[in-house]
Parts: sequence; structure tokens; C-alpha cells
Amino acid sequence: MRTQTVTLRILRFKPDRIETPHYEDFKVRREPRMTVLDGLEQIRLNQDETLMYRHCCHHSSCGTCACTINGNPALACASRIADLQSDVITVSPLANHTCLGDLAVDMTSFFREMDPHWTNIRPCEGMTSNRIPEDVDQVVRLENCIECGCCVATCPVSATEGEFRGPAVLAAINNEIRNRPTSKQSLLRIANDARGVFKCQRHLVCSRVCPTRVYPARHIADLQRALDALSSQDT
Ligand code: SF4
Repeated sequence: MRTQTVTLRILRFKPDRIETPHYEDFKVRREPRMTVLDGLEQIRLNQDETLMYRHCCHHSSCGTCACTINGNPALACASRIADLQSDVITVSPLANHTCLGDLAVDMTSFFREMDPHWTNIRPCEGMTSNRIPEDVDQVVRLENCIECGCCVATCPVSATEGEFRGPAVLAAINNEIRNRPTSKQSLLRIANDARGVFKCQRHLVCSRVCPTRVYPARHIADLQRALDALSSQDT
């Protein structure tokens, strides 16, 4: 029988104010279907308004609430407390990212790797109505990656800061080749540079943690095969 409360054990750190990272326990009311993000919101509303974390959509579409939950990178909004089957849940910021404060990390270097001209990135269309326009017969997902950073957080090679483009960016490059085959040569050149696909050591953990089944390791393997094929043509 579970207790009426659950403890969120949160790593507290504010680079400018709390210099020594330490865990702090917060007891929150256990609600049916409650997620870790719901728990963080309870804490911020009722116990400590200085708790920092990122969040936006609350339905695993934006990737902003990714953090480390019981040791694994995951979306806080998609992590049900009941599924974690524990009375104490540890929550810390994503690894391999710079912590801005508590659970909030700096995603600047992640996004800097993405070319704003790639087809998977486009400006918001500024919908004027909640209804689907009549000339759109179905809504298709532009791509699966929600840029949460979980794959980067778990990748042992990404831990060697700056030396690897990282699984999400390489998956995006492979997608871009599919979307824009005319750019294949230039994109393969990026994928083949010193920070590219051949840095990957096939740990495959990126594919395991990805909440939207991008399977970045498969994209990396595709790129490696394409590059191997190119080099065998040259010889
Ligand atoms: Fe997140 Fe998956 Fe995209 Fe990596 S590939 S950033 S884990 S959605």
C-alpha cells in the first residue's frame, strides 16, 4: 500500500547563489495519474517558489521538461509517479548540459548545432484559429524529435564536451538528407567531420531513452553507411 505522499528528492543548485549542489526533499500529495511535473508544480506553488525547472506543453510535445528522474533522462510531464513505483523519486538536471539553476539547463549549444534552414525547423505559422484549415485534410507531424536533449544527456560520447555533435543533431542531418536529397553531399560532409558520426561508439543508449522514438542510433548508422559507400566509390 502506497503512502498518501511521495517525496521528490531534488538536486538544488544555483550557480550564482547555491554553490554546493545538494539534494532537498519535498513531500507532495500523491494524486491519481500524477506526473513528476505535477509534483514540481505543487512544490513551486505551495512550498518553494524559487524551484527552477523548464516546462511548456505538459503533453510530451515540446521537450522542455526533460530532466534526470531516478537516474534516467526523461520528460517530467510523461513520467507518472505511479509508474516509478517508489516513495522517493530523485530528480536532477539533464547530464551533459550546463545547469542554469536547479533542474533548468542551458540548451543553447544544443540548438546552435541545428541549422535554422533545415526543413525540420520552421517559424511558428501564427494560427489565427483553433480549427484545422479546410484545405488541410490531415495533420502530419513534421518530425518526431522534440529537441528534449535526453539522448545527449545519456550519451557517454556527448559527455566529452564539444567533441561530438550528439545523437539528435546527427538524426536531424539524416532526416534532412531524406527531405532534401539535393543537399546530401554537403550534409554528409558535416556528418563526417571530426565531431561527426564516426565519434559514435554504438552505446545505443540514445535510442533507448528517446521519448518520441526517433531512434537516433539508427540515423547515425544510416549516415555511417552512406559515408562508407561514398568512400568505397572513391577507391
Ligand atoms: Fe529528445 Fe529523441 Fe530528439 Fe534526442 S532524438 S532530442 S531524445 S526527441
